[in-house]
Amino acid sequence: MGSAGRHMDITVGVLALQGAFNEHVQLLRVAAKILEAKDIVNRTWVFREIRTEAELNSCDALIIPGGESTAISLVAQRSGMMEPLRDFVKVQRKPTWGTCAGLILLAEAANQTKKGGQELIGGLDVRVNRNHFGRQIESFQADLELPFLQQADGDELKPFRAIFIRAPIVEKLLKHVVGPQTDEEKVDATVVAPSRPIDHQVAKKIHLKGVEIMGTLPGRAAAIKEDETKKLDAEAGDIIAVRQTNVFGTSFHPELTGDPRIHVWWLEQVVEAVEERKNP
Ligand code: GLN
Repeated sequence: MGSAGRHMDITVGVLALQGAFNEHVQLLRVAAKILEAKDIVNRTWVFREIRTEAELNSCDALIIPGGESTAISLVAQRSGMMEPLRDFVKVQRKPTWGTCAGLILLAEAANQTKKGGQELIGGLDVRVNRNHFGRQIESFQADLELPFLQQADGDELKPFRAIFIRAPIVEKLLKHVVGPQTDEEKVDATVVAPSRPIDHQVAKKIHLKGVEIMGTLPGRAAAIKEDETKKLDAEAGDIIAVRQTNVFGTSFHPELTGDPRIHVWWLEQVVEAVEERKNP
Protein backbone atom coordinates (compact mmCIF):
# COMPACT_ATOMS: atom_id res chain seq x y z
CA MET A 1 0.00 0.00 0.00
CA GLY A 2 2.98 2.27 0.52
CA SER A 3 1.26 4.21 3.27
CA ALA A 4 3.39 3.21 6.28
CA GLY A 5 3.58 5.93 8.88
CA ARG A 6 0.80 8.02 7.33
CA HIS A 7 -1.95 8.95 9.72
CA MET A 8 -5.44 8.03 8.66
CA ASP A 9 -8.74 8.49 10.47
CA ILE A 10 -11.53 6.17 9.42
CA THR A 11 -15.10 6.61 10.62
CA VAL A 12 -17.33 3.56 10.50
CA GLY A 13 -21.01 4.00 11.25
CA VAL A 14 -23.53 1.44 12.41
CA LEU A 15 -27.10 2.30 11.43
CA ALA A 16 -28.92 2.53 14.74
CA LEU A 17 -32.58 2.82 13.85
CA GLN A 18 -33.55 -0.65 15.10
CA GLY A 19 -31.93 -4.04 15.71
CA ALA A 20 -28.54 -5.34 16.90
CA PHE A 21 -26.44 -2.20 16.33
CA ASN A 22 -24.75 -2.10 19.74
CA GLU A 23 -23.32 -5.60 19.30
CA HIS A 24 -21.70 -4.52 16.03
CA VAL A 25 -20.09 -1.49 17.65
CA GLN A 26 -18.67 -3.72 20.43
CA LEU A 27 -17.22 -6.23 17.96
CA LEU A 28 -15.82 -3.47 15.73
CA ARG A 29 -13.85 -2.24 18.75
CA VAL A 30 -12.44 -5.73 19.31
CA ALA A 31 -11.59 -6.01 15.59
CA ALA A 32 -9.86 -2.60 15.58
CA LYS A 33 -7.61 -3.70 18.49
CA ILE A 34 -6.59 -6.79 16.50
CA LEU A 35 -5.82 -4.64 13.45
CA GLU A 36 -3.90 -2.09 15.52
CA ALA A 37 -1.70 -4.87 16.85
CA LYS A 38 -0.68 -6.04 13.40
CA ASP A 39 -0.85 -2.82 11.45
CA ILE A 40 1.90 -0.56 10.24
CA VAL A 41 -0.39 2.29 9.30
CA ASN A 42 -1.00 4.81 12.02
CA ARG A 43 -4.76 5.14 12.01
CA THR A 44 -7.56 6.11 14.33
CA TRP A 45 -10.80 4.22 14.09
CA VAL A 46 -13.99 6.02 15.02
CA PHE A 47 -17.11 3.89 15.46
CA ARG A 48 -20.44 5.62 15.84
CA GLU A 49 -24.15 4.95 15.87
CA ILE A 50 -25.91 6.58 12.94
CA ARG A 51 -29.41 8.02 13.05
CA THR A 52 -29.27 11.18 10.94
CA GLU A 53 -28.10 12.26 7.52
CA ALA A 54 -25.37 14.49 9.02
CA GLU A 55 -24.03 11.53 11.01
CA LEU A 56 -24.10 9.34 7.90
CA ASN A 57 -22.19 11.95 5.94
CA SER A 58 -19.34 11.73 8.46
CA CYS A 59 -18.81 8.03 7.67
CA ASP A 60 -16.32 6.31 5.41
CA ALA A 61 -18.17 3.02 5.76
CA LEU A 62 -21.42 1.68 7.22
CA ILE A 63 -22.90 -1.45 8.78
CA ILE A 64 -26.63 -2.08 8.56
CA PRO A 65 -27.45 -4.51 11.38
CA GLY A 66 -29.88 -7.36 11.73
CA GLY A 67 -33.28 -6.76 13.25
CA GLU A 68 -36.47 -6.40 11.29
CA SER A 69 -36.02 -5.04 7.79
CA THR A 70 -39.59 -3.70 7.58
CA ALA A 71 -39.10 -1.78 10.84
CA ILE A 72 -35.70 -0.42 9.81
CA SER A 73 -37.08 0.68 6.45
CA LEU A 74 -40.13 2.31 8.07
CA VAL A 75 -38.06 4.29 10.57
CA ALA A 76 -35.63 5.24 7.80
CA GLN A 77 -38.50 6.50 5.63
CA ARG A 78 -40.02 8.49 8.49
CA SER A 79 -36.74 10.06 9.49
CA GLY A 80 -35.77 10.96 5.93
CA MET A 81 -32.85 8.49 5.88
CA MET A 82 -33.80 6.34 2.91
CA GLU A 83 -32.44 8.67 0.21
CA PRO A 84 -29.22 9.51 2.09
CA LEU A 85 -28.66 5.76 2.51
CA ARG A 86 -29.19 5.13 -1.21
CA ASP A 87 -26.80 7.96 -1.97
CA PHE A 88 -24.16 6.47 0.38
CA VAL A 89 -24.41 2.94 -1.01
CA LYS A 90 -25.26 3.38 -4.69
CA VAL A 91 -24.14 6.87 -5.67
CA GLN A 92 -21.06 7.36 -3.46
CA ARG A 93 -20.44 3.59 -3.44
CA LYS A 94 -18.94 3.65 0.05
CA PRO A 95 -18.23 0.32 1.78
CA THR A 96 -21.41 -1.01 3.34
CA TRP A 97 -22.06 -4.33 5.08
CA GLY A 98 -25.54 -5.61 5.83
CA THR A 99 -26.21 -8.49 8.22
CA CYS A 100 -29.52 -10.36 8.02
CA ALA A 101 -32.16 -7.58 7.85
CA GLY A 102 -29.30 -5.38 6.59
CA LEU A 103 -28.69 -7.81 3.71
CA ILE A 104 -32.40 -7.63 2.80
CA LEU A 105 -32.28 -3.82 2.68
CA LEU A 106 -29.16 -3.88 0.49
CA ALA A 107 -30.69 -6.28 -2.06
CA GLU A 108 -32.08 -4.90 -5.32
CA ALA A 109 -35.05 -7.28 -4.93
CA ALA A 110 -36.64 -8.99 -1.94
CA ASN A 111 -39.57 -11.36 -1.85
CA GLN A 112 -42.09 -12.39 0.81
CA THR A 113 -42.65 -8.67 1.10
CA LYS A 114 -45.89 -6.74 0.85
CA LYS A 115 -45.78 -4.22 -1.97
CA GLY A 116 -45.90 -0.74 -0.50
CA GLY A 117 -44.94 -2.12 2.91
CA GLN A 118 -41.20 -2.01 2.66
CA GLU A 119 -38.64 -0.04 0.73
CA LEU A 120 -35.18 -1.26 -0.19
CA ILE A 121 -31.91 0.61 -0.38
CA GLY A 122 -30.39 -1.77 -2.94
CA GLY A 123 -26.80 -1.99 -4.14
CA LEU A 124 -26.48 -5.75 -4.46
CA ASP A 125 -27.82 -7.26 -7.67
CA VAL A 126 -29.54 -10.16 -5.97
CA ARG A 127 -32.99 -11.28 -4.99
CA VAL A 128 -33.26 -12.37 -1.36
CA ASN A 129 -35.88 -14.64 0.06
CA ARG A 130 -36.91 -13.28 3.44
CA ASN A 131 -37.46 -15.66 6.37
CA HIS A 132 -36.12 -18.45 4.21
CA PHE A 133 -35.80 -20.97 7.02
CA GLY A 134 -39.21 -20.34 8.47
CA ARG A 135 -40.35 -18.78 11.68
CA GLN A 136 -38.41 -17.60 14.73
CA ILE A 137 -38.43 -21.07 16.26
CA GLU A 138 -36.43 -22.34 13.30
CA SER A 139 -33.46 -20.18 14.10
CA PHE A 140 -30.29 -22.25 14.25
CA GLN A 141 -26.52 -22.20 14.39
CA ALA A 142 -24.15 -23.69 11.84
CA ASP A 143 -20.41 -23.99 11.27
CA LEU A 144 -19.53 -22.22 8.03
CA GLU A 145 -16.46 -22.51 5.88
CA LEU A 146 -15.77 -19.00 4.69
CA PRO A 147 -12.79 -19.11 2.31
CA PHE A 148 -12.23 -15.34 2.52
CA LEU A 149 -11.19 -15.78 6.16
CA GLN A 150 -8.23 -17.92 5.09
CA GLN A 151 -5.19 -15.94 6.20
CA ALA A 152 -2.53 -17.66 4.12
CA ASP A 153 -2.34 -20.66 1.82
CA GLY A 154 -1.83 -23.82 3.78
CA ASP A 155 -3.28 -22.41 7.01
CA GLU A 156 -6.09 -24.47 8.41
CA LEU A 157 -9.40 -22.64 7.94
CA LYS A 158 -11.30 -22.61 11.21
CA PRO A 159 -15.08 -22.82 10.70
CA PHE A 160 -17.13 -19.77 11.63
CA ARG A 161 -19.97 -20.46 14.04
CA ALA A 162 -22.90 -18.54 12.59
CA ILE A 163 -26.28 -17.72 14.08
CA PHE A 164 -29.25 -17.59 11.72
CA ILE A 165 -32.39 -15.88 13.05
CA ARG A 166 -35.32 -15.81 10.64
CA ALA A 167 -32.59 -15.37 8.11
CA PRO A 168 -32.88 -14.53 4.43
CA ILE A 169 -30.87 -16.24 1.73
CA VAL A 170 -29.75 -15.00 -1.64
CA GLU A 171 -31.97 -17.01 -3.97
CA LYS A 172 -31.02 -15.40 -7.26
CA LEU A 173 -28.09 -13.47 -8.68
CA LEU A 174 -29.36 -10.74 -10.99
CA LYS A 175 -27.70 -9.18 -14.01
CA HIS A 176 -26.69 -5.60 -13.42
CA VAL A 177 -29.08 -3.39 -15.37
CA VAL A 178 -29.19 0.33 -15.94
CA GLY A 179 -32.35 1.31 -14.13
CA PRO A 180 -34.49 -0.74 -11.72
CA GLN A 181 -34.81 -4.51 -11.88
CA THR A 182 -38.16 -4.35 -13.69
CA ASP A 183 -38.32 -8.12 -14.37
CA GLU A 184 -38.14 -8.68 -10.64
CA GLU A 185 -41.12 -6.41 -10.08
CA LYS A 186 -43.23 -8.97 -11.88
CA VAL A 187 -42.35 -11.71 -9.39
CA ASP A 188 -45.07 -12.31 -6.83
CA ALA A 189 -44.74 -10.46 -3.50
CA THR A 190 -41.41 -8.99 -4.54
CA VAL A 191 -40.23 -5.41 -4.09
CA VAL A 192 -37.33 -3.81 -5.94
CA ALA A 193 -35.05 -0.95 -5.04
CA PRO A 194 -35.17 2.26 -7.06
CA SER A 195 -32.08 2.67 -9.19
CA ARG A 196 -29.53 5.44 -8.67
CA PRO A 197 -26.60 6.06 -11.01
CA ILE A 198 -23.10 6.00 -9.53
CA ASP A 199 -21.50 9.44 -9.10
CA HIS A 200 -19.28 9.99 -12.14
CA GLN A 201 -16.28 11.16 -10.09
CA VAL A 202 -16.59 7.99 -8.01
CA ALA A 203 -16.95 5.92 -11.18
CA LYS A 204 -13.46 6.99 -12.26
CA LYS A 205 -11.98 5.19 -9.24
CA ILE A 206 -14.41 2.35 -8.65
CA HIS A 207 -15.50 -0.12 -11.27
CA LEU A 208 -18.79 -1.85 -10.73
CA LYS A 209 -18.34 -5.60 -10.62
CA GLY A 210 -20.70 -8.55 -10.68
CA VAL A 211 -21.91 -10.32 -7.55
CA GLU A 212 -19.39 -12.68 -5.89
CA ILE A 213 -20.58 -15.58 -3.77
CA MET A 214 -18.60 -15.41 -0.53
CA GLY A 215 -20.23 -18.24 1.40
CA THR A 216 -22.82 -20.99 1.20
CA LEU A 217 -24.55 -23.15 3.74
CA PRO A 218 -24.17 -26.70 2.51
CA GLY A 219 -26.51 -29.40 3.68
CA ARG A 220 -28.66 -27.09 5.71
CA ALA A 221 -31.03 -30.04 5.88
CA ALA A 222 -29.32 -31.00 9.10
CA ALA A 223 -30.68 -27.90 10.72
CA ILE A 224 -34.26 -28.07 9.52
CA LYS A 225 -36.74 -30.82 8.93
CA GLU A 226 -37.59 -31.23 5.28
CA ASP A 227 -38.74 -33.85 2.85
CA GLU A 228 -36.20 -35.70 0.73
CA THR A 229 -36.68 -33.76 -2.52
CA LYS A 230 -36.13 -30.45 -0.79
CA LYS A 231 -33.10 -31.92 0.91
CA LEU A 232 -31.51 -32.63 -2.47
CA ASP A 233 -31.96 -29.01 -3.51
CA ALA A 234 -30.52 -27.86 -0.26
CA GLU A 235 -27.35 -29.88 -0.78
CA ALA A 236 -26.30 -27.49 -3.54
CA GLY A 237 -25.97 -24.95 -0.78
CA ASP A 238 -27.83 -21.80 0.06
CA ILE A 239 -25.99 -18.58 -0.63
CA ILE A 240 -25.51 -16.79 2.67
CA ALA A 241 -22.73 -14.29 1.93
CA VAL A 242 -22.21 -12.12 -1.16
CA ARG A 243 -20.18 -9.13 -2.22
CA GLN A 244 -20.53 -6.70 -5.10
CA THR A 245 -18.02 -3.88 -5.42
CA ASN A 246 -18.51 -1.88 -2.19
CA VAL A 247 -21.42 -3.86 -0.77
CA PHE A 248 -21.11 -6.97 1.38
CA GLY A 249 -24.02 -8.96 2.79
CA THR A 250 -24.35 -11.88 5.19
CA SER A 251 -27.54 -13.76 6.11
CA PHE A 252 -26.34 -14.51 9.61
CA HIS A 253 -25.30 -12.49 12.66
CA PRO A 254 -21.51 -12.42 13.18
CA GLU A 255 -22.00 -9.75 15.83
CA LEU A 256 -23.77 -12.20 18.14
CA THR A 257 -21.02 -14.82 18.35
CA GLY A 258 -18.11 -12.75 19.61
CA ASP A 259 -15.85 -14.07 16.83
CA PRO A 260 -14.33 -10.91 15.35
CA ARG A 261 -12.79 -12.46 12.22
CA ILE A 262 -15.36 -11.17 9.73
CA HIS A 263 -15.26 -7.69 11.30
CA VAL A 264 -11.44 -7.71 11.03
CA TRP A 265 -11.62 -8.82 7.39
CA TRP A 266 -14.25 -6.22 6.55
CA LEU A 267 -12.31 -3.38 8.20
CA GLU A 268 -9.34 -4.40 6.05
CA GLN A 269 -11.58 -4.05 2.97
CA VAL A 270 -12.65 -0.63 4.26
CA VAL A 271 -9.02 0.48 4.55
CA GLU A 272 -8.39 -0.60 0.95
CA ALA A 273 -11.49 1.23 -0.28
CA VAL A 274 -10.58 4.42 1.58
CA GLU A 275 -7.02 4.26 0.16
CA GLU A 276 -8.38 3.70 -3.36
CA ARG A 277 -10.48 6.84 -3.14
CA LYS A 278 -7.58 8.94 -1.88
CA ASN A 279 -5.24 7.99 -4.69
CA PRO A 280 -5.42 10.50 -7.51
N1 GLN B 1 -36.55 -11.81 8.94
C1 GLN B 1 -36.08 -10.51 9.27
C2 GLN B 1 -36.51 -9.47 8.23
O1 GLN B 1 -37.21 -9.77 7.35
C3 GLN B 1 -34.57 -10.47 9.41
C4 GLN B 1 -34.17 -11.19 10.64
C5 GLN B 1 -32.88 -10.74 11.24
O2 GLN B 1 -32.32 -9.69 10.93
N2 GLN B 1 -32.43 -11.52 12.18
O3 GLN B 1 -36.14 -8.35 8.36
